[in-house]
Parts: sequence; C-alpha cells; structure tokens
Amino acid sequence: MKSDTADEKTRSPSRAPDGVTPMMAQFLEIKAANADSLLFYRMGDFYEMFFEDASVASRALGIALTKRGKHLGEDIPMCGVPVHAADDYLQKLISLGLRVAVCEQTEDPAEAKKRGSKAVVRRDVVRLVTPGTLTEESLLDARAHNFLTALFREPHGEAAEPRFALASIDISTGELIAATCRLTDLPGELARIRPGELLAGEDLADDDAIRNLVKDAGAALTSCPRAHFDSTRGERALKDRLGVAALDAFGDFSRAELAALAGLLTYVELTQVGRAPLLRPPRKESADRLLLIDAATRVNLELVRSNQGTRAGSLLAAIDRTVTAAGARELTNRLSSPLTDGAMVNARLDAVGYLADEPRLRQDLRDALKTAPDLARALARLAFGRGTPRDLGAVNAAIGAAHELAVRLLGAGEALGLPRELMGIAERLAQAPSEVAASLSAALADDLPVNTRDGGFVRSGFDSDLDELRALRDGSRKVIAGLQATYAEAAGIKSLKVRHNNVLGYFVEVTALHAPTLMATPHTEKFIHRQTLANAVRFSTTELAELESRITSAAERALALELEVFAKLTGEVMDAERSLSSASAALAELDSYAGLAELAVEQRHVRPRVDDSAVFAIEEGRHPMVEQTLRREQSADFIGNDCNLCGGVDDGNDAPSALLVTGPNMGGKSTFLRQNALIVVLAQAGAFVPAKAAHIGLVDRLFSRVGAADDLARGRSTFMVEMVETAAILNQATPRSFVVLDEIGRGTATFDGLSIAWAALEYLHEVNRSRVLFATHYHELTALADRLPHVANATVEVKEWREEIVFLYRVKMGAADRSYGIHVAKLAGLPASVLDRAGAVLAELEKADGRPKPADLAGDLPLFQAAAAPRPETSPSKLKEALRSYSPDGMTPKEAIEALYRLKALVEDDA
Ligand code: ATP
Repeated sequence: MKSDTADEKTRSPSRAPDGVTPMMAQFLEIKAANADSLLFYRMGDFYEMFFEDASVASRALGIALTKRGKHLGEDIPMCGVPVHAADDYLQKLISLGLRVAVCEQTEDPAEAKKRGSKAVVRRDVVRLVTPGTLTEESLLDARAHNFLTALFREPHGEAAEPRFALASIDISTGELIAATCRLTDLPGELARIRPGELLAGEDLADDDAIRNLVKDAGAALTSCPRAHFDSTRGERALKDRLGVAALDAFGDFSRAELAALAGLLTYVELTQVGRAPLLRPPRKESADRLLLIDAATRVNLELVRSNQGTRAGSLLAAIDRTVTAAGARELTNRLSSPLTDGAMVNARLDAVGYLADEPRLRQDLRDALKTAPDLARALARLAFGRGTPRDLGAVNAAIGAAHELAVRLLGAGEALGLPRELMGIAERLAQAPSEVAASLSAALADDLPVNTRDGGFVRSGFDSDLDELRALRDGSRKVIAGLQATYAEAAGIKSLKVRHNNVLGYFVEVTALHAPTLMATPHTEKFIHRQTLANAVRFSTTELAELESRITSAAERALALELEVFAKLTGEVMDAERSLSSASAALAELDSYAGLAELAVEQRHVRPRVDDSAVFAIEEGRHPMVEQTLRREQSADFIGNDCNLCGGVDDGNDAPSALLVTGPNMGGKSTFLRQNALIVVLAQAGAFVPAKAAHIGLVDRLFSRVGAADDLARGRSTFMVEMVETAAILNQATPRSFVVLDEIGRGTATFDGLSIAWAALEYLHEVNRSRVLFATHYHELTALADRLPHVANATVEVKEWREEIVFLYRVKMGAADRSYGIHVAKLAGLPASVLDRAGAVLAELEKADGRPKPADLAGDLPLFQAAAAPRPETSPSKLKEALRSYSPDGMTPKEAIEALYRLKALVEDDA
C-alpha cells in the first residue's frame, strides 16, 4: 500500500483559519455521517481512530492512546491498528457489540498531490461492519450461522395480541428466511434463530419490553428508520434481486413479512454501501410446521448452548458428527427447528436409516465430504466482491466433491433403492456446473494465495500474454541477480550485494570499508552514491534502474491481466450461482444425514416411530449428554428407563397422561425428565434417539422448566420467575404438547408451594391434557394418582445399605416412601454433628407434623374443576346500601356509633 503522502503534508502547520486542518475537516465530515460507528480512518498502512472513538477503541482493544496535533486548540486523542491485522481487532470490537465504519482512501495519493500540495486524499466509507453483516472467515464461526434479523410488528387492533414478522438473512451464505409469530412466542423465536444483530423500527427499538427480549437473546439491537420497513418496496426489491415476477413459488409472504424483508434488505444495502449480497430464494417458516419451543425450554434443555453458554456440553455438541462446517450449520438449524410434519420427519428418518445401514457407503460419502470446502461462504464472498483466489479454488473443489458424491449415491441408489431425500440430494449434486469447474481448473494455479493483491494465482500456460510478462519480470530479476557477480568482480569487492527496498528500489551495497573504492575512478561513472549508513554505503546504477522499471511495468501489467482473469472467473461462477447454491445446500444436508447415521451407529440410537397419535412410549431411554459423559469418564453405565404416556387426544390408550416422579435428591429424576424431552426434539428434528425403542406421537409444543432459577438482572425473584413460566405453560399447552416440570413450587413456603404444584398438576390433567412429566419433593402430591385417572406415580429406585444410600437410577412405577435428604447431605460431606442434629429434628417434626396426610387431602379437597369454579363472592351491595343511607353530617355521636356496629355486623354476616 502506498503511503499517504498528501496527508503527510497536512501534518505541517498549514491549518484552516479556525484551527481545523483540511484532513481533520474531512474526518469530521465522514464521522458526522457515521455517528453511531467507530470510524476506521485509513492512513497509509493503518486505520486510525480519533477523539472519542480513539478512547473507546484503545480501552476495548488494550492499545496505546496517543495524540496527534491539535483541534481547536486541544490535543486530538488517537489510536490505530495496522491494516494487515485489522480483522483481529474488528472481531474484538464486534464481539463487544460495537459497529465499525471502514473508511478507505478512494484515490491514489499521487492523484491528490496533483490538486495541490495541501490537497487531502479522497476517502469514503466503503463498508459498515456490524455483528450481523460479517462475511470474513476470520470474523465468523465456521460451524455456526450468523443471522441478521429484522423485526416488524403487524398492525393490529386494540384487543388482538400483536403478531410479529421476522425476516432473517445470513449474508455469509445468502440464506433468507421469513416467519411470523405471536408476541408470546417471540422470545422462543429469537432463541431459535439466535440472530447476531436485530433490526427494528425506531418505535419498536425504543420499547423496553422489546429491548429486554433482544438482550436476553444475546443480539445487538439496531434501530432503523420506520420508512425502511415498506412492504411494497420489500416485495419489489426481492422480485428484482431474484429475477422473478411473483414470489408465490417461494411461499405465501404476508405484508408484514415483506415489510420485515424490506427493512432487512435496505439495511444490508446501506451497510455494504451498495454491494448486493448473495440471496438464496427466501424460505417461509410457518409456525404450524415447527415444534414450538420457548426460550426458557431451549436454555433448560441446553439444545445448542450449554448452561455455560458454550457449544461444548450442549445436545448439539453431543450429536454432531458432521465433517464439514456447512453440515454443522445445517444440523444446528435442524436441531433448533424440529418439525411437526410427520411426512417430513419420516423422510429425514428414512435418509438417516439408509445411511446407518450402509457403513461402506457412509464412510465413502464422509471421506468425500471432507474434501468439500465451504461452498456457501465462498459464493457469498464472491458475490459481494470480497472473494479471493482461494474462494474460486473452493468452488472448484466443491464441484468436484459434489460430482463424486452424486456418482456414489446414484450408484448405490440404482442397486439398493435410495430414499427420496437422498435421491433429491444426489440429483442436485449431479447438477453442479461442470463447465465452471473446467474453467476454474484450467485457469487457477495449484497453490492459491490468500488474496488477489499480489497475483500469482493464474496457472502458467493459461494466458500467453501473462506468461510473456512473467518471463520478462522473472528474466529481469535473474539479470539483476547476475549483476551482483559482475559488479563484485569489476570492483574487486567480494562482499558487494545487490539489494532492494521500497525507497531506493534496487541498489548496490558495500561495507563502509569498501565504499571509497566505488567512490573513486573509474567506478564513479557507474556507481552513483545514494546513501551512507553507519556500516554500509549504497549506490544505484542506470542498469539497475532500467531493469527495475522493466520489472515494475511487467509486474503491473501481469497483475492487471490476472485481475481480469479473476473477474471473468467470478462472473462465470456467479452466472451459475443458482445451481451452485443448490449443490452447496445438498452438500450440507448430506453431511448432516451422514453425521446423524454415524451417531446412531456409534451411540446405539434407534429410529423412532413417529406418527399422529398422542403416544409417548420409550423403552430404555437414555440421556444423550449424561450418557456420553459417563462413558467418557468411565465412571458408570447409564441406566436406560422406560416412559409411557398418552396425551388427551387419544382416549383409546390406557397409559397415563402425567407421570409424577418422586424420589431422593440425586436419584436421577431431572435426568429422566430431560432425556424424554430431548428425545422429542431429536425425533422431530429427524434424528435417531437414544433408546431401545421409541414411539412418538408428534408434539406441537414442548415445555421444560426447573423450579428456582433466579433472574435478578431483570428484577425477578426465583419464585416469580417460576410462576411466570408455569403460567405460560398452563396458558399455552395443548393435548398435543409435552410438558416437563421439575420441582415447581419449590421457591416458596412449603404449604404454598405444595398447593401450587397440586393445582398446576390438576390443571394440566383436566384442562391442558398434555403429556406431562412432573418431578417433585412434595410426597403429599402422590395422592393425586388415586384421584386423577390419568396420573400415575413413578419413583427412582434407591437402596439403603448400612445407613448409606445407593442410587440405582431405575425409574419404577409407584411412589417414593421418603426423601433421603439427610442421606444425600451426608454424601455431600456435612459435618456429622449437623447430620445427627438434623436427624433428631426430623424425627420431632414428623411426630408433631400438622401437615395434612396425603390420604386426608385426597378425601377432602374437591377436584380441580370444582376448585376452579367461581367462589361465592361476599356481596358488597348490602354494605353499600347501608353506607348510602347514612348522612354523617346530620348524625349524633350515638347514631354514628350505632351505624358503625351495624356495618360491622353486616361484614361478619358475610364472612
Ligand atoms: P435433585 O433432586 O437433587 O435435583 P435428581 O433426582 O434430579 O436430583 P439428577 O440430577 O437427575 O438427580 O441426577 C444426578 C446424577 O445421577 C446425574 O448427574 C448422573 O451422573 C447420575 N444419573 C442420573 N440418572 C442416571 C442414569 N439413568 N444412569 C446412570 N446415572 C445417572
């Protein structure tokens, strides 16, 4: 990169009369237009930041804050990052939720100089880097999507619950998705999509509730002008970009979804300063075709992130056996968005089953997949004009891999009858454009550089003009190398060297000792003195200067030719973008299927029978993460457990709809509850499940809650969180839903908690009629099994041995006889005296226990319906009537006291 010579001039005291240098004036103007971003202002080989930006960046990046000149009499704070290392710094700033405007020099400093020595090099912002608009490999996690999501509230009447349209794009792959949800499902939708950045019109972005939701979802919130969310413009932009007259073929998009798409595309256009991203055909995700999982359940089940916020420890990490980054992204999508369409689920299961049964084919496919680079991301960068020679190489290698995979699949298919999903994949892979691969193979060198800047990526023999220029350039370099020997001999200085630097170009260098020789006749004619350093003296020669200019001009012309080839190849790739995108999606899907098949075989997962019944019948189910951890640590075998339930939509089945699980702490209750919820997710995502056998009637909504989780940041106590979440379940669960409640009602006084748990279970049984797993320490609740026809008791088995407790982790029908809390406390290492005292207190409490016994409760309390019937209200009318009849001003003290007695009597009558 050339240095910013014209700017150097502006460092001199030539200031505008008001104390603002021309360069500072330019900086301030560009900064004003990008006030909400840090401005990376290009100066030579650095991006510099000034004023407040410099203070923010120096703190965030831990780099030195310096000063540069004065502005209006004050020092200007400054810090900078070298251009070659800018990506690392950008990544750090973006991860802190900051935005960066990258401002480049848009003309050669030499051009600026022609306008006068004080002219400032022209600069412009070429790109805004925000969390949702990254394309660079170094800024992205290869195995995760990075969505930018636009949120738009549907216009709605006062009474109706608002609905929201969400449009999401991953500009690093071109994936475009639209969906709509109700306000109550919005947190779940955001947790499903996990956007890096969320766009909202100013009204929404200023709404505290929305701000909190976005914060909880871990996304950066960007406020945009409302005018950007114009559905007519969105529709037009999308049609133009996709080259279609109607969008119907892609889905039935609502006006609100089109408005969200408009907001999204406008923002992308603005941040990319006119460059258009790759757009895959938009996909509509209908809420009724996806298993609804709210945000709390996603966190609770650790679907794609563990409780520590890492991928490690999540269900995703436990089941991911993909061999490509695109395959991992596809698997994440599937796991985040399980389906409710039985035919689609079974089609996926067919594909996994086929590959699980064909180990040779699976291995061959996985080996070939490993050679397939990340086609989607390479294409997106090329479309953006940010492609590199390696991206072209990646396209070429991916086409090769696609063809190889198609041949293997189709070969196997003819012989063995490939399932529909795999057949579709094979066809899309076979259609990857061979002519593009042929062009790329012919033009590209074997070893490709990381960027186009220095050339060297076009194969020799591809273009004769280029070959000639390279020969000229390389020939001259050889001549120069030869000159060193000639000069050394002529001057009689063995140590003479020909060297190169950016200031002098090629020069002759000798030690100070030998310098007088070259400075004396006859050598002065040839060697022109240029520079004297402490130990060396440098000279130039006309021969060297001529050769240098030949090299430079040949190299410049060669580079220009290479760039032409690059542009032509990129054009060819983009002309075939549709079939390449389709092949790239097929590669990702195939990898996810092959990975799931590998997992099924490795972890002994079975194909679940998935249908429209309300059955949930699991034989020896296991918890995928706990099982793998136990195996890794070789501490114990995981004990499989059955679970049999049937929801309220299928009355022919006599399995209970709710299982009430009691048993000691650490006995395995939570593990049992969660493993069944995870099995639902896996099955409906199209994966095999950790069990001996599984029959699952499709679930429409999945809830999983653990009592007692503080949300102090939002000012809600443990118990409040628990109740808000329980309310959400009771209000939303249907007879097709699956509900897991782990120790609900724990965060308050015993009787309150017990009563709430009691009433919640009754409600789930009578009203929601969902499939329910309910773990509790309130043994009193076990009485409900006698009263509610579809509730059954289950307990985790333990053995007592010499006052010690041994966990068997086996779930069996029936209620636990006691809670063993003190035994577990002993295992945890509580001092012996505390344990003894606790035992004594327990014995006393049990003797004097005023708590109702289960049997008493069962007898006395009415069932839920009766309990929920409107309670007889104490009628305030008589009181009102009496009060109205009094006129306090006209009363004697005696009358007043009598009136008071009457009122009191009325109240007591009512009570
Ligand atoms: P608490 O009531 O204290 O929350 P819990 O009954 O819910 O306890 P879990 O947290 O489910 O108990 O299980 C405790 C530990 O027991 C697990 O971390 C696991 O190591 C082990 N465990 C649970 N279930 C099984 C199983 N089926 N097979 C083997 N080990 C198990």
